[in-house]
Amino acid sequence: MAVRIIAEKCKGCQKCLKNCPFDAITMQGKIADIGPACTNCGNCIENCPFDAIEKIDDGNKGVDITLYHDVWVFAEQRDNKLMGVAIELLGEGRRLADEIGCRLCAVLCGDKVDELVAELYEYGADVVYYASAPELKTYNTDAYTKVIYEAIVKYKPEIVLLGATHIGRDLGPCLAVHCGTGLTADCTKLEIDPEDKKLMQTRPAFGGNLMATILCPRHRPQMSTVRPGVMTKPERVSGRRGELVNLDVKFADGDIRMQVLEVVKGLTEQVSLTDAKIIVSGGNGLGKPEGFELIKKLADKLGGVVGASRAAVDNGWIDHSHQVGQTGTTVKPELYIACGISGAIQHLAGMQTSKTIVAINKDENAPIFEVADYGIVGDLYKVIPTLLEVLGE
Ligand code: FAD
Ligand code: SF4
Ligand code: SF4
Repeated sequence: MAVRIIAEKCKGCQKCLKNCPFDAITMQGKIADIGPACTNCGNCIENCPFDAIEKIDDGNKGVDITLYHDVWVFAEQRDNKLMGVAIELLGEGRRLADEIGCRLCAVLCGDKVDELVAELYEYGADVVYYASAPELKTYNTDAYTKVIYEAIVKYKPEIVLLGATHIGRDLGPCLAVHCGTGLTADCTKLEIDPEDKKLMQTRPAFGGNLMATILCPRHRPQMSTVRPGVMTKPERVSGRRGELVNLDVKFADGDIRMQVLEVVKGLTEQVSLTDAKIIVSGGNGLGKPEGFELIKKLADKLGGVVGASRAAVDNGWIDHSHQVGQTGTTVKPELYIACGISGAIQHLAGMQTSKTIVAINKDENAPIFEVADYGIVGDLYKVIPTLLEVLGE
């Protein structure tokens, strides 16, 4: 569908300009004109006092969605090890597949990573589509896109889920463009519409101030990326088995336009926030970079890792790999201690599902206290040393 102005009815009142959230409407003389920024949201239609805007069929009928079945999860592996997010997505995929009444399938690419097939069954996959070739040993955009795109064309999954890792964020859009379908990035919730079994993909929008639920009604597959740590890992059922489908892997000259010469791990200290059971995070309230020494002492004492708010990262006090929140890492530890962090919605988006939240803040009205299980109102430079003393005993 598309949205158009009915020129004969338009009175040039400009009301639609104010009502378009995407600034897609301009005036061409006395008549409104809809530009390419239009998302077909329909807001202007409801607000035109002269019924001068309508939805029209632009001939884009999509695909025959009845041909598409099954939920696929991209089983991202690195160095022959499944990424945690792939396992989390198998748990989520299982739930979605059961609601739709279809199979859960994993797509595994690599070079002789056969031992991962059994692991995928044990985490819930009914079917594993497996592509093994030297060209797939390390992630390569062209190689992975070609193999998985060809599998999608042949086997027609109705849903494809990928982790919002660096690799998933590269591969997902490439596949979506090849398939001519949409992709919802960084979903925080996936549900099946009980009426028509379509995937409802929810993600934060407008800087996290509202949650948008996005549908892909006429194209397939429905594709989503989900950030690590958002979904819960399923129980591993030892000995569970499934069906193996080996994918044809053939590359012609020119198929792979890039070559991985060397893999260099990040030089900055990397933290695994997603797997951490205890996180002690510092924010702007630390007031200086040295404040993180105190945060680290507390984290070390508790056997945890150091997290940070974006303000602390933006101040240059700590590396971005420590950032928790909407544009950092989503975490779900047993214990999250927020020190000198106000509790902005974008920070909460990344940590509010932690099992127990402790907040230390000198402002008793700080929003962080609304999500905290335990709140300590006070100066962190007094509170943390006291905690360390008590823990020392
Ligand atoms: P502040 O808001 O400045 O809060 C500092 C707190 O410390 C205050 O509550 C103050 O009372 C307290 N304090 C001060 N001194 C002391 C003391 N001595 N002892 C105890 N308490 C003290 N933010 C994130 O964290 N993660 C994200 O991923 C993220 N993504 C974003 C994405 C977008 C699109 C946007 C627009 C913003 C994003 N932000 C993110 C930024 C977010 O909106 C906030 O600006 C940020 O979280 C604030 O960090 P803060 O709480 O450390 O700082
Ligand atoms: Fe024309 Fe309707 Fe827009 Fe007014 S609100 S400018 S009548 S299209
Ligand atoms: Fe703007 Fe939505 Fe109207 Fe398109 S349909 S012109 S995006 S208000």
